Amino acid sequence: MLLILAPLAGIALLFALLLVADRYFGAPGAGRDYVLRIPLPQAGGRLGLPPIEGPLDASRPLVVIDAGHGGHDPGAGAGTLREKDITLALAQALRVRLLADGGVRVALTRDSDRFLLLPERAEIARELKADLFISIHADSAANPDAWGATLYTLSDRGSNEEASRLAASENRADTVNGVALSGQSDAVSAILVDLSQRESAAQAAEFARLVLREGTGKIDFRERSIQSAAFIVLKSADVPSVLFEAGYLSNQNDAARLASPEGRQSFAEVTARAIRIHFARRLAQAATGAPAPQPATAVPEPTGTGD
Ligand code: ZN
Repeated sequence: MLLILAPLAGIALLFALLLVADRYFGAPGAGRDYVLRIPLPQAGGRLGLPPIEGPLDASRPLVVIDAGHGGHDPGAGAGTLREKDITLALAQALRVRLLADGGVRVALTRDSDRFLLLPERAEIARELKADLFISIHADSAANPDAWGATLYTLSDRGSNEEASRLAASENRADTVNGVALSGQSDAVSAILVDLSQRESAAQAAEFARLVLREGTGKIDFRERSIQSAAFIVLKSADVPSVLFEAGYLSNQNDAARLASPEGRQSFAEVTARAIRIHFARRLAQAATGAPAPQPATAVPEPTGTGD
């Protein structure tokens, strides 16, 4: 008897629950207007700082890794191949590598699919007193033959037309329908002020050159020299900052490389090695009292095969 009643009671209970659920959470009636709301952070609002991973010793150098785009901003790419996913996977792979090697503290500006304003990303690095800030991106071009990774540092002027185009494209992440979310319309003039921080700029250039050197034969670079342009995300006065465009999602080979575990591994190994060498050099310079690197303007670009 109980065996027969139990399922019946269960069905009755389910029916009652459905009635209640319909009363309280019922779908709106036909013809009702819907508004799609995208939650955006308040411009200038303060964010919670991400956790710092690695050694507890706060004297260890800290690298803040920034996965470009996120949330409602997919970045470049199309279909299932979206820049925001690629950059997050690369950032996480780099973190794994750095933590496995030890000695370096690591924080990610975002560890999930969420949106951050460009100035907030740099602000996180500044607040955490990072020693290095790396913003990871992937490009897209109308020409499917455009390929290769590029290292960028901050400058008021693009090193060439392509660099300026890219900076304008990346800086658009902070706009919705052309309206600036972060009120950074005067970003370029602000960058000029911050460029007075020559020491940070010199360190950023030094690090970018290390990535090019360590990546030789392992990562296909579009340019064998560092490029520069007015990237808002690099506008941090006192944290050496570089932007790593890891490749073109519009190029078949690059896209396959960036989306593969091997490609991520290669990116992480090269970048982690460059980070370790960079910090080792900084430590040696601090220990011996050697002079800091020359001002960014006086640092010659490496003579590579690029133009
Ligand atoms: Zn991007």
